Amino acid sequence: SSGEVVTRDPATGEVLASYAAHDEAGVEAALAATYAAAQVWAATPLAERLGLLRSVGKLLTERREEYAALITAEMGKPLAEALGEVDKCAWNCDVVADLAPGWLADHEIASDAARSWLSYEPLGVVFAVMPWNFPFWQVLRFASAALAAGNAALLKHSPDVTGSALAIEQLFADAGEMTGAPDGLFRSLVIAAEDVADVSRRIVADPRVAAVTLTGSERAGASIAAAAGAAIKKTVLELGGSDPFVVLADADVEAAAATAVKARFTNTGQSCVCAKRFVVHADVAEEFTARFVDHMSLLEVAPMAREDLRDQIVRQVEATVAQGARLVTGGRAIDAPGWHMEPTLLVDVEPGMTAFDEETFGPVATITVARDDDHAVELANATTFGLGASVWGAPGHALAVGRRIRSGALFVNAMVASDPRLPFGGTGRSGYGRELSAEGVREFTNVRTMVVA
Ligand code: NDP
Repeated sequence: SSGEVVTRDPATGEVLASYAAHDEAGVEAALAATYAAAQVWAATPLAERLGLLRSVGKLLTERREEYAALITAEMGKPLAEALGEVDKCAWNCDVVADLAPGWLADHEIASDAARSWLSYEPLGVVFAVMPWNFPFWQVLRFASAALAAGNAALLKHSPDVTGSALAIEQLFADAGEMTGAPDGLFRSLVIAAEDVADVSRRIVADPRVAAVTLTGSERAGASIAAAAGAAIKKTVLELGGSDPFVVLADADVEAAAATAVKARFTNTGQSCVCAKRFVVHADVAEEFTARFVDHMSLLEVAPMAREDLRDQIVRQVEATVAQGARLVTGGRAIDAPGWHMEPTLLVDVEPGMTAFDEETFGPVATITVARDDDHAVELANATTFGLGASVWGAPGHALAVGRRIRSGALFVNAMVASDPRLPFGGTGRSGYGRELSAEGVREFTNVRTMVVA
């Protein structure tokens, strides 16, 4: 591979920086370095490994303004949200450092043997392909788990956030120097767009790589998982979502509407766990819609991360309107520098329409009216995805309805959000495997059965 990678400011469309891509020798050096580091790290006591994560957390907090400014410059989210992202990364490091001793402790199982147990052992180098929507969080989420478990990490980040990718590499190098961790434990690859598929396939096939994790589109996930399948390597896939947000007849409609707007428009709608389809009981649909529009009027408009992503969601809205949905507000690109789109609300949206059937990765909400609870469940499940579901109503009622919806997580009277103490992941075409918490750390281990007669 060769060439260069250019980043742009989504608020203006102007070039931020250009980076030389790794050539073949550069990729080989990164593979060799992470592989060597993995051997040392696997033999390093857990307490020392967690010491590294504590230092990473400390540095994240010290440098939060610098990192947040970089995130905002590269992918356009408001600075306050970028600061929140960095703070969450630091919190995650602390949670892993505090709780990983329990997550990775030997698990005794009674059998006929004198002693039998599970031992959670490192796999080696984890190759990670990550997206631009949370440039730090997506990376710290997988890396904290992978490194705690005794692995090394090789990152191929989205080229849109190359500055963040290199800043995170430096972050781990600095924390490593403070704690005596091996050099090469975390490396970032800079790969030119035209080479990504080929180089990634080669890395996945390389015998020095043990496992693969990807967050991104179904297309990218299928491609990486196919390569990993051919090489018989473990994968974790965290793909898209079209999460339902169900409002039942006995819901607190004002609380639901206020949270609904936050759940849809956070990160300018560019999150896999953003609520995307609002399924509302007929008895409260009018009130919910009115309150939703009120809360939308308070939104701060931030740019989307890329021009092509903005243009794609505008096309999804136009197609949905052509199919018979009604545009209540928004719907167009904003005619100004940068890649902005008007916050948009579509109503009378039905299965079969584009914005219902496809993931909408931007500031577009859809409302679909349900006749009754059964219909609400049917609508919520009318998707190939299954990441998170949010159900609003009297708690027992909402929980009963929520249990009938297929998803990797169910939140009752709250929006779907990740938490380092709770596992996170999907079903169906949202992917498989879990991140965060004990399940997330153990994804990157060999769950080894130990028997002593
Ligand atoms: P992609 O899935 O293309 O990008 C995510 C990451 O995967 C990037 O690092 C990308 O690198 C990489 N990638 C893509 N194809 C391959 C491949 N064949 N082999 C190896 N790596 C690959 O997402 P986009 O940025 O194009 O966004 C498109 C859609 O994906 C969004 O509209 C949304 O629906 C979904 N998405 C979901 C996310 C989530 O959080 N689950 C996050 C981002 C996007 P490169 O850019 O160099 O191709």
